[in-house]
Amino acid sequence: MVLMRRFTWPIVHRDATADNLPSIKDHTKMANVRDLQAALSERDKELQIKENRIQVLESELKRKDEQIRKIESELDKYRSVLKPTTTNVPKSRLPRLGISAEPTFAKHIEERISKRTASLDHHDKSLRSKELIKEAILDNDFLKNLEASQIREVVECMYEKTFKKDEVIIQEGDTGSHLYVLEDGKCVVSKEGQLLGNMGPGKAFGELAILYNCTRTATVKATINASLWVINRQTFQTIMMKTGLMRQAEHMEFLKSVPLLKELGEDALHKIADVIDEQHYDEGEYVIRQGARGETFFIIKKGTIIVTMRQNVHDEPTMIREMTSGEYFGEKALKGDDFRTANCIAGKGGTHCLVLDREAYSQFINGLQFKEYDDKTETPASVKLEKLREQESEYAHIHLEDLTVIKTLGVGGFGRVELVKSTKDKRTFALKQLKKHHIVETRQQDHIMSEKRIMFEAQSPFIVRLYKTFKDNKYLYMLLETCLGGELWTVLRDKSSFDDSTCRFYVACVLEAFSYLHSNGIVYRDLKPENLLLDNKGYCKLVDFGFAKKIGFGRKTWTFCGTPEYVAPEIILNKGHDLSADYWSLGILMYELLTGSPPFCGADPMKTYNIILRGMDMIEFPRKITRNAHVLIKKLCRDNPAERLGYQKGGLKDIMKHRWFDGFNWEGLRQGKLTPPIIPKVKSATDASNFDDYPPDDDVPIDDMTGWDRDF
Ligand code: ATP
Ligand code: MG
Repeated sequence: MVLMRRFTWPIVHRDATADNLPSIKDHTKMANVRDLQAALSERDKELQIKENRIQVLESELKRKDEQIRKIESELDKYRSVLKPTTTNVPKSRLPRLGISAEPTFAKHIEERISKRTASLDHHDKSLRSKELIKEAILDNDFLKNLEASQIREVVECMYEKTFKKDEVIIQEGDTGSHLYVLEDGKCVVSKEGQLLGNMGPGKAFGELAILYNCTRTATVKATINASLWVINRQTFQTIMMKTGLMRQAEHMEFLKSVPLLKELGEDALHKIADVIDEQHYDEGEYVIRQGARGETFFIIKKGTIIVTMRQNVHDEPTMIREMTSGEYFGEKALKGDDFRTANCIAGKGGTHCLVLDREAYSQFINGLQFKEYDDKTETPASVKLEKLREQESEYAHIHLEDLTVIKTLGVGGFGRVELVKSTKDKRTFALKQLKKHHIVETRQQDHIMSEKRIMFEAQSPFIVRLYKTFKDNKYLYMLLETCLGGELWTVLRDKSSFDDSTCRFYVACVLEAFSYLHSNGIVYRDLKPENLLLDNKGYCKLVDFGFAKKIGFGRKTWTFCGTPEYVAPEIILNKGHDLSADYWSLGILMYELLTGSPPFCGADPMKTYNIILRGMDMIEFPRKITRNAHVLIKKLCRDNPAERLGYQKGGLKDIMKHRWFDGFNWEGLRQGKLTPPIIPKVKSATDASNFDDYPPDDDVPIDDMTGWDRDF
């Protein structure tokens, strides 16, 4: 703040007294003195004016200072929301756990929607109540992201529930499955007995529970009789999925009917269905104009289109024909011919069209003969089988009883991993053990079976090998290749952040692992530094396939999976996700490796999701992220999955070809000849010093002999 200096002027007050009577000479002197006095008083007046002016300016300054202070505090508030842990805040010491909803839940809803048996029950309510619920939804950081039609459906499906004074609405520690909107009454929120705040009418709460089965972290109690509107997870998810699935199915049906697109495979059609836009034209509106340039292709969804044309410039256009639903026009634009040869005008009552522009079209289609993706090279089944047989015989002699535990290597949300040694041949392994009862409780059976299948088949030097599995009444065991260089997460924690080229090496390793997975139609869904392990040489491998799923191409999956900071927006909004969710998480990984913290990070998962939904454009990039890295992160983390680098016809190779990788020795990496940026110290096959210490797990799980793990 600039302070204005004030100058003190020498002001002298003089008095003419009787003791001081004047002579003639004195008279002249007096006249002079009088003049001087007059001048002086004039000066005094001027000074007073200046003094007043200074006072005014000072109070102005004070006001401005106060304004600056207010704006600064406002700015701090925004910063804390938008860029929470990128600077100053120390990196959390606890590795982050993956979160997953029950996979069968989404499958069940998808089946019901496709069989058209997923009916949604509407509940009567007054207009005032409808308005209140809608306002509450729009006031909620997560719910306000729903589409208008979804909000309407949620409002209709909410049912009323009343709670008496002192009755608990949500109990801390319980598993939640409802979202509430308070219409009448008051509630108090507390955690571990401590008061967190009060809630009044018009407030929506409990929203995390409609994303997945979570444990409630606070208690909400009615302080006077209260009336609430409620919706459960199943209904909410049905609304969310229905919108996406129905739109996709509708678009697919239209696209399949267009002869121009008939040579395209399902995969390409699905991608086009995702980028196609729906637009309405009022009756009489020109959709395209003869002679104009245009790059858009249209399919009529509802209504008609009148086609007119004039033979010569001065002629009046004459009607050629009327087109109806299912017909299309403007297709020449897709082939590069951009002059329109006729007028197309919206018919009676207006027209709905599906719209596709040339750029989106050419991103997915290579000429009209659709070329299969270069990296879609699934390993032939016979090769897989042969490799599996070899592996089986190599480890046939190893039994669970022959393994002795040396040290715990890691603990995750679902399992504990021990470094073990075989008493038979002294080889060491990482043994992941999972409590069967816990798997059943959290309904993760499908995920575990899929983890085993995918890891067992995986043939990539960038993916941790699974050699063999065991089971008993309490646990499932996975015998894994050891990676004793430690978690990339620990290395990052110790070094705070990586420079550009260190980061590039690890991201390249991940891309190699993804190349294998994606070419086999497998989405990974749990990328984070905790799931990247260094081998003795310092090469990085992907571990933990608990959320990996074979979805194939052009297909979507719906179960909420991942680690909060890394989940893509379409997973949070339950729009259905595919391989492109992995590109998003790759961008997040780059950011975290380069800065030490992920870009989106809130105080709790729900806050993190809300920050993610605001998008990457809201994130400030620190200077240490180079321009090329910045550009690549932004291209990977586009809100619209279809716009992410990697999703277009070049596939993952588009990412490998990005400028950030210019000069990178991909062949050297693949052959293991490239020197890694960090070479871990591993003294022997039993040296677990690169891993943190974990306290023993004293909990002995109960037996589970229900047989669901028959094929494990
Ligand atoms: P999450 O909560 O991430 O889903 P999880 O319970 O599925 O975890 P993993 O991630 O597979 O378990 O393993 C937990 C930790 O154990 C890893 O982060 C890693 O530190 C360690 N670990 C796993 N596999 C190995 C291995 N093959 N070699 C060395 N350490 C390993
Ligand atoms: Mg893990």
